[in-house]
Amino acid sequence: MLPISLRLAILGAAALGLAGTFLIEERTAAQTPAAGGVTALMNARVIDGTGRPAMEKATIVMRDGRIDAVGANPTIPAGATRVDMAGKTIMPGMINAHGHAQKGLDPKIPIREDLIRQLRMTANYGVTTVVSLGANKDDELEQIKLREEQRTATTLDRSRVFTSGASVRRFKTAQEARAETNRVADIKPDIIKLHFDDPPGNMDAETWGAIVEEAHKRGLRVTPHIFYLRDAKAVVKKGADVLAHSVRDMDVDAELIADMKARDVGVIPTLTREVTVFVYESTPAWFKDPFFLRGMSLFKEHVDIVSAPEFQQRVRNDKVAQSIKQALVQAKRNVKIMADAGIPIAMGTDGGVPNNMTFGRFLGYLEHMELELLVESGLTPMQALTAATGNGARVMRLDRIGTLAPGNVADLLVLDANPLQDIRNTKQIHSVWIAGRRLAALGTN
Ligand SMILES: [Zn+2]
Repeated sequence: MLPISLRLAILGAAALGLAGTFLIEERTAAQTPAAGGVTALMNARVIDGTGRPAMEKATIVMRDGRIDAVGANPTIPAGATRVDMAGKTIMPGMINAHGHAQKGLDPKIPIREDLIRQLRMTANYGVTTVVSLGANKDDELEQIKLREEQRTATTLDRSRVFTSGASVRRFKTAQEARAETNRVADIKPDIIKLHFDDPPGNMDAETWGAIVEEAHKRGLRVTPHIFYLRDAKAVVKKGADVLAHSVRDMDVDAELIADMKARDVGVIPTLTREVTVFVYESTPAWFKDPFFLRGMSLFKEHVDIVSAPEFQQRVRNDKVAQSIKQALVQAKRNVKIMADAGIPIAMGTDGGVPNNMTFGRFLGYLEHMELELLVESGLTPMQALTAATGNGARVMRLDRIGTLAPGNVADLLVLDANPLQDIRNTKQIHSVWIAGRRLAALGTN
């Protein structure tokens, strides 16, 4: 038997007919250095991530990895590299506010290498930041290391990562829950994730309440996994700071909305998470989307699993999976209700979950589908793009990313077509820039 990685490479080659260039390119991918230290991207439509109207024929000046100026006519220093971006749309690199940068299915790939290849791929899809809301105990320390490295790196050829560390869940007593919250807090995560499970796994109110209290004592915000309105209301009253999913059992009510607005609590609807629960009852058409196929060096092992007839049969017969079709309808209704009420919506997919229960949550690709679903829910394309940029940073309290403002890091997504006209145009990627440098594209040529 061949080793899994070699088998995957051969299968990938057969499936795609381009493994020769595809795989080698990934290994040698490098960034294009910016000459002279200052680069000006000129004549572009610029969507700055705040929700303000796009600027036409604007220029972005980047210096030392950061944005120096944005506007109609900013000063461009002599010697700057000028790049004509006429006809292009430039927006901030996207933020997946609820993903999972975690060890994948192949046990032979070292964790660090595995996380880096995933973050390299998400960057290729224009998602330049991934907030991992959950980890196994062996992923979390590698996530933290990568986060620390990105703080001081002068160049970066992967998405930035932030993390909650391991999700705090399934404790029987408040004392145990406090101990685990403190253990996670000690590794210095960006936020604490807690998890409402269905009975019998669920924690009682004293136990999950202890997690919120302990996290806040340690100066950490809390994001709960919720499904039911009653849990969302209780945990927001207790002080939760961001909802990691939509309410999916009924319409959100005025009381929840008022409590969220009072403390600027945002929500990450993760609509594609619902899709992936039931969609593999058959083979989705997007498995043939060339934009999806760009990610096959990573996606292949999951594509094989969810394409198997027995797997699809199981999804068709699974009552819970089928019930999620209705949960998606409800989640979309709540996106619109909450957006209209002024609750900040952030884009997230719950993508990348590697455990053995969930498959086919393709980190990088599904972010673009999430934008489409947000628009289907009733958001304008501008609102959806803001969810994926400025609101992601606002809701997750991420500094200096998400909007194109002077001083922020120059993480950019350059598009060949205008996403304000059709949200699917976020797939028309011209180039991705991280810390002011253009990333070499993977899997295209
Ligand atoms: Zn999750």
